[in-house]
Amino acid sequence: MYNLEEQYSPFGISKDVLTFGEEIIASLEERFRQMDETAEYNQLKVIHAMQQCRVSEACLSGTTGYGYNDLGRDTLEQVYAAVFHTEDALVRPQITCGTHALALALMSNLRPGDELLSPVGKPYDTLEEVIGIRKSRGSLKEYGISYRQVDLLPDGSFDYDNIRKAINEKTKLVTIQRSKGYQTRPTLSVAKIGELIAFIKEIKPDVICMVDNCYGEFVERTEPSDVGADMVVGSLIKNPGGGLAPIGGYIAGKKECVENAAYRLTSPGLGKEVGASLGVMSSFYQGLFLAPTVTASALKGAVFAANVFEKLGFSVIPDSRESRHDIIQAVTFGKPEGVIAFCQGIQAAAPVDSFVTPQQWDMPGYDSQVIMAAGAFVSGSSIELSADGPIAPPYAVYFQGGLTWPHAKLGILKALQNLVDQNIVEKL
Ligand SMILES: *Cc1c(COP(=O)(O)O)cnc(C)c1O
Repeated sequence: MYNLEEQYSPFGISKDVLTFGEEIIASLEERFRQMDETAEYNQLKVIHAMQQCRVSEACLSGTTGYGYNDLGRDTLEQVYAAVFHTEDALVRPQITCGTHALALALMSNLRPGDELLSPVGKPYDTLEEVIGIRKSRGSLKEYGISYRQVDLLPDGSFDYDNIRKAINEKTKLVTIQRSKGYQTRPTLSVAKIGELIAFIKEIKPDVICMVDNCYGEFVERTEPSDVGADMVVGSLIKNPGGGLAPIGGYIAGKKECVENAAYRLTSPGLGKEVGASLGVMSSFYQGLFLAPTVTASALKGAVFAANVFEKLGFSVIPDSRESRHDIIQAVTFGKPEGVIAFCQGIQAAAPVDSFVTPQQWDMPGYDSQVIMAAGAFVSGSSIELSADGPIAPPYAVYFQGGLTWPHAKLGILKALQNLVDQNIVEKL
């Protein structure tokens, strides 16, 4: 009566698959305990910030029109500043996504003639057009802002010699991407980011160090702003929105940097004073409140999957034992059927749109076909359980999220069951 096996069976998950999963989970007890402890640490950080900033019931309702004196918005920005230990923050529904937040931080803090440096290799795909690495209208390049890049060394470490050489009198801003995104390089720990920033500031103290913090928030107990970053930037439909924010982005950092961003987001002269919060404030607050435990749930899912698929002989990045600095997990199946079966399994475990079967398609901007699984409450939200993979060698799937650990577990078991049913995994 009331046993788990029966509860899994309507999902088509066999006793063998469940048992295989349970054995792995049993071996992860200590790591999960550490994740819970980090969640606890960060939960207290968030509650303390909310108390310190005197969040009240009045903060949860919104304004319309110009949004002057929007108590909820202004207080939330103080809360973010307190959580990230920064002087100021800009947290707005008018920041439409992570790319927008990053573009805003860059465009508002760079001026014609300045140079942008990425000392960690190629940035996230969408930033190529923001910067003008790929020709695009409105890029930084069009405004006379040049770009330099120093790749990581083959072992994933910083190329300090070439970073030193790349910093010159024009270098105004350094962009550091914490997460590997969809590349195979390692994700940077907060400690590593701190070392890099210290090195750069020693060469040029007044350079602005910005960190693309997407997928990294609350994975560790410190954030890049604790180790010298002048700005940390991210999306609210990833970790810090806790699954509840329906839109939005944030920039937390030095007062001057944040104000520059505000003058660019709204208008010179207006800055942070305008921008109605409409009806999203309660979801921004509650999402931030949930973010530490939601991030831990996603992290458990990522580590569970790494252990499951590594044990079955697939290559996984990060591997089963590595320490984690973001919530993304890559699994390489080596054949298209593996990617497709995995994504279809994730979709079949979703609370929304579970009855649709994702198919690969020619997505604009990609060289190969891509398959995506997302049955999310918030469209495109990747803190919710989601997966995607290009149908091209090495046939790897990238997945992330899970608002709750049981859901992440279900998704991974269902993906595994699909692989078993299609004989892609032959023996557990
Ligand atoms: C998601 C992401 C972005 C862009 O965010 P969008 O919300 O998709 O525009 C930028 N950098 C990294 C590392 C990301 O993971």
